[in-house]
Amino acid sequence: MIEAVSPIIECLTSRVCPDCTSVCCINRHSDFDYSDNIFMSALNKEIPEEDPGVAATDPCRFLGRRGCLRERPERPYRCTWFFCSPLLEVIGEQMPLSDHRNFIEMLRKITELRTEMIRNFETVFLKPVPAMKNK
Ligand code: SF4
Repeated sequence: MIEAVSPIIECLTSRVCPDCTSVCCINRHSDFDYSDNIFMSALNKEIPEEDPGVAATDPCRFLGRRGCLRERPERPYRCTWFFCSPLLEVIGEQMPLSDHRNFIEMLRKITELRTEMIRNFETVFLKPVPAMKNK
């Protein structure tokens, strides 16, 4: 679903990001959080180590000349669900209403499945250790 939603997001960002004067792809946003770590592990992908040589407010270490260098499923999830005001304006003004509804529904479903994934992970892997019985 993230792959399916990506071309739609790229169509939107291609209209807004090239002229942006306040680029949100700063290095602080490249950190993989708890859910990103679980997701990347499920994909059997390596989680990139943080780069202490890049300051939090510097351009993101994954930002290339033509945008993000990482495939969307391998970016922190915040990079997919965050929409700045200019992007929201483009969505509101230029996306037909039915497409808009489908798009929002896809994002909602991705977030729902992601939440379920975390819950399942915790159920399977973070079970409390049973107490030892005295013989
Ligand atoms: S979309 Fe890519 S370049 Fe932008 S903050 Fe996320 S990881 Fe960095």
